[in-house]
Amino acid sequence: TVEMLYDKDVTTNYMAGQTVAFMGYGSQGHAQANNLRDSGVDVIVGVRQGKSFDKAKKDGFPTYSVAEAAKKADWVQMLTPDEVMSDVYKEEVAPYLEAGNTLGFSHGFNVYYKEIVPPADVDVVIMAPKGPGNLCRRTYMEGFGVPALYGYYQDASGHAEDKAKEFAKANGAARAGLLKTTFKEETDEDLFGEQNVLMGGVTSLIETGFEVLTEAGYSPQLAYFEVEHEMKLICDLIYEGGFNKMYRDCSNTSEYGSYVVGPKVIGKESKQAMKDALKEIQNGKFAKDFMADYRAGFPELYRLRERSENSQLSQVGEELRARMPFVKEADKYSN
Ligand code: NDP
Ligand code: MG
Ligand code: MG
Repeated sequence: TVEMLYDKDVTTNYMAGQTVAFMGYGSQGHAQANNLRDSGVDVIVGVRQGKSFDKAKKDGFPTYSVAEAAKKADWVQMLTPDEVMSDVYKEEVAPYLEAGNTLGFSHGFNVYYKEIVPPADVDVVIMAPKGPGNLCRRTYMEGFGVPALYGYYQDASGHAEDKAKEFAKANGAARAGLLKTTFKEETDEDLFGEQNVLMGGVTSLIETGFEVLTEAGYSPQLAYFEVEHEMKLICDLIYEGGFNKMYRDCSNTSEYGSYVVGPKVIGKESKQAMKDALKEIQNGKFAKDFMADYRAGFPELYRLRERSENSQLSQVGEELRARMPFVKEADKYSN
């Protein structure tokens, strides 16, 4: 059995008196900065000039350039996009890190793949919420939280693990439960999940189902409802009560079809593809390709993004959602 930690299990107070600088005020930066401030932590924001800078200021945070914030901080939480993080770190954070400081992440990517190599005299910790930033903020406001992973890469002070737990608690995550991890485990699993199941897997599944139906002459509108719109309803049931609840709530016809056909669709070939993807995460090939595309100006990312944005599925979905005001994002904590 896994040991989960909750609020009552986090009793140390090594963060007391520390100034935490959030580098980046996007999805995670915005959520974590607000949650920690509401938990009584001294929070500042470090971000480049622009939309995020203005928003952090408007939200009442002392807001600086990354370098200025790094100078003032005891704890630097790196929440820029992963691909720019090592440049930001080298130019604007590393020069101002002092012995005893803490360097925090929400994804192990840069440290694990050695894009960032922190000095030996700082603690290097991770607090990775298992959910998007707007949900972390919304659930915090509602008195819950999103579960999180915590851990450390480097323990200079002897308290790195406790600090990571305290940070997670201040973010509201210990209300939902904390799980211990390592930078390697978090990075491998996070990349695997988003590529194979959560985003890559789900979008490919929806897209392929949509193609098969429309190529066979079925209406794109109906196909959209069938393979995309209903996805949320099924996911909600799985989220609330696992496969068992979903099957209980659906017809026997659908349950039988699901058992018999599903494993043929996601079969041996898909499993092998997932194993290959995991290997390329573990041996660093995916990270190398991703960083190379970034350094070349993201030609591949932008080409694929354009294809996705202009697909028939995207267009049909957009038209239909415009007629369904109830599905519009009504999340006022979203950044
Ligand atoms: P976002 O893209 O939402 O936000 C990035 C922030 O960094 C923005 O405020 C952006 O400002 C700022 N920024 C970009 N470039 C620079 C720069 N050169 N100098 C200073 N600031 C800059 O990122 P996420 O919140 O999605 O991701 C942050 C980290 O959290 C990543 O490590 C990610 O893997 C991790 N994570 C994210 C999750 C999520 O929910 N999205 C979930 C779990 C982990 P501007 O407005 O100017 O672009
Ligand atoms: Mg991720
Ligand atoms: Mg049933």
